Amino acid sequence: SRPIVAIVGRPNVGKSTLFNRLAGDKLSIVQDTPGVTRDRIYADVEWLNYSFTIIDTGGIEPQTDDLILQHMRNQAEIAIDTADVIMFITDVKAGLTDSDFKVAEMLRRSRKPVVLVVNKVDSHEKLQYDVFEFYNLGLGDPYGISSANGTGLGDALDAVVAHF
Ligand code: GDP
Ligand code: MG
Repeated sequence: SRPIVAIVGRPNVGKSTLFNRLAGDKLSIVQDTPGVTRDRIYADVEWLNYSFTIIDTGGIEPQTDDLILQHMRNQAEIAIDTADVIMFITDVKAGLTDSDFKVAEMLRRSRKPVVLVVNKVDSHEKLQYDVFEFYNLGLGDPYGISSANGTGLGDALDAVVAHF
């Protein structure tokens, strides 16, 4: 059966944008407004010789900081239970947050394979250096990508399929 890859991360880091890029169409709704229901959360992806299913664990996302942490814990639990590989998405523009550290700890403890993705590295050289900060999460190499333009996505997917 197809491996399952769960996309986990805070609201607004770009999970739905990444999901849409991997799904290869624009059916999933991306909104700038947090708290919007996204109706499409599963997609089958073909990449090189690999077939897998991605899950966008975003769904209905909360707006306040305490609810965001609770929401991320729930997301992480779902991902830990159902996924073969977890893509943990962070945001280079926002930098590291407390909830990133807390969820990283949950993911580390689960011993599920995790690929640490740092999104919104669109082009600027400065942002490429900012990616190194994410080593502090203790989840191995951070993969800088741009879900908006596809930069770095190949290397990140190589890291994902290496766990199949
Ligand atoms: P989600 O809440 O994690 O699902 O995030 P979304 O995919 O809805 O994206 C949140 C915001 O970040 C939107 O305004 C996107 O256009 C923007 N965004 C997503 N990916 C990128 C990226 O690679 N670069 C930049 N600059 N913006 C991005
Ligand atoms: Mg989303």
